[in-house]
Amino acid sequence: MPKFYLTTAIDYSNGDPHLGHALEKVGADCIARYRRLRGDDVWFLMGMDEHSQAVLQAAEQNRVTPTAWVDRMAATFEDYWRRLECSNDDWIRTTEPRHHRGTTALLEQIARANPDDLFVGEYEGLYCFGCEEFKQPAQIVNGHCIEHPTLELVPTKERNHFFRLSRYRDRLLELIRSGEFRVEPAIRRNEIVRLLEDGLQDISVSRYRQQWGIPFPGDPEQTVYVWFDALINYLSATGYPEPGYERLWPADLHVVGKGITRFHCVIWPAMLLSAGIALPREVWAHGYVQWEGTKMSKSAGTAVSLGEAIDRHGPDALRYFLLREVGFEADGNFTWDRFDERYTADLADGFGNLASRALAMLAKYRDGVVPADTTATSLDRDGTATVAAYGRAMDAFDLRGGAEAAWDLVAKANLYIQQVAPWALAKAGKEVELDAALGTLARVLHRLAVLSSPFIPGKAQVLWQSLGFPAEELGRAWGGLARPPVAGRATNKPEVLFPKPTSV
Ligand SMILES: [Zn+2]
Repeated sequence: MPKFYLTTAIDYSNGDPHLGHALEKVGADCIARYRRLRGDDVWFLMGMDEHSQAVLQAAEQNRVTPTAWVDRMAATFEDYWRRLECSNDDWIRTTEPRHHRGTTALLEQIARANPDDLFVGEYEGLYCFGCEEFKQPAQIVNGHCIEHPTLELVPTKERNHFFRLSRYRDRLLELIRSGEFRVEPAIRRNEIVRLLEDGLQDISVSRYRQQWGIPFPGDPEQTVYVWFDALINYLSATGYPEPGYERLWPADLHVVGKGITRFHCVIWPAMLLSAGIALPREVWAHGYVQWEGTKMSKSAGTAVSLGEAIDRHGPDALRYFLLREVGFEADGNFTWDRFDERYTADLADGFGNLASRALAMLAKYRDGVVPADTTATSLDRDGTATVAAYGRAMDAFDLRGGAEAAWDLVAKANLYIQQVAPWALAKAGKEVELDAALGTLARVLHRLAVLSSPFIPGKAQVLWQSLGFPAEELGRAWGGLARPPVAGRATNKPEVLFPKPTSV
């Protein structure tokens, strides 16, 4: 089985998760579930970034210790990710001993392999506490950080340890241009290539006397810069530096937001090159969830409650909406109206109605048992074409394209019912034709349960079991999509998958 190690960005512990966090986690989860379906040995990592100065401030404001605060935040985030059906295999927190060990070990490995890459210097610049980053002129608009227009930039000057990032510019350009280190989508790759072409400055990788963080190896007055520390989580979660960490490393895919590509596509691979460790194979940088045209974020004051969004139509509906409407590539808009429209059209009237009509007819005309017909109808051919289109899209992390392919088949199946009119076949006593129609519908439901499962895992499982299959077989069902083995299955009518909203 090919191994597939994928990660999401780890989140700051300074406020509740919002829809922006949710898009990233749900998108990565969709990819993890799809790769498992295809037979990969998936390892899916999520976690928390707990060393930022914002944590200290939040803990102080809430009159608790930083440890108590990050414990509380980790529990809150994890609870949301469980509600959203995230299937991560591991959950790393940067305050864990395994991460301290990994961070210290990586810095020591850099110091051994390329002693000139770490040096002491003075840093003077404008620091954004929202990003935990010194800002370059190009990242400042009207005196504020682009990502945090409501925060003040703080002039900061201190003696720090530096990393010789500039040394890796040519090598990174070559690796990215050749595709050996993939940065996707292309718009993000082009941004990174331009940034590299403009040249790289060496970066400060420690802060002076910070209470909350990992001590810099060999210099306890300095603390490892929080971003440098955070990036290493992907490696420390593999067990690095213990032998055997290469079972997972290198990562096959880092899923991150478009605002942090400089860290993941420049600084992180340069750190690994310096240490002599293999680079991740790919970084996928998704866009932002926008609310009336503005980025969803705590500091911008536009956050919609994630809990409210989950409760509105259930977790599957939110997952579907984020991936289908907002999308996993460019920025996309979230509005309640659009969410309600998609819910009603695609899920209640589309997917749910198809399942309920087809299963009701199987119950009515064949006591729920799928007839053993051997025909291949036009809808069977549509199903085969859909599986191919879906696979192409999902292999390219085009999650919207994958959802479109599956829901296009839903529309075709609902149309098929109208055109073939099984009730008329029953009335006319055309039993062979009725068998073919009911068999075709059971096959399309089987395919849809499988194809929709990375998007709407909960409801896909309900449909799957309604078709008479054991729960645990859904994850291994890809091989059966060519001709779904539904003949003779005892089906039953499920609960209404997506109830029509009463007060929307
Ligand atoms: Zn900022």
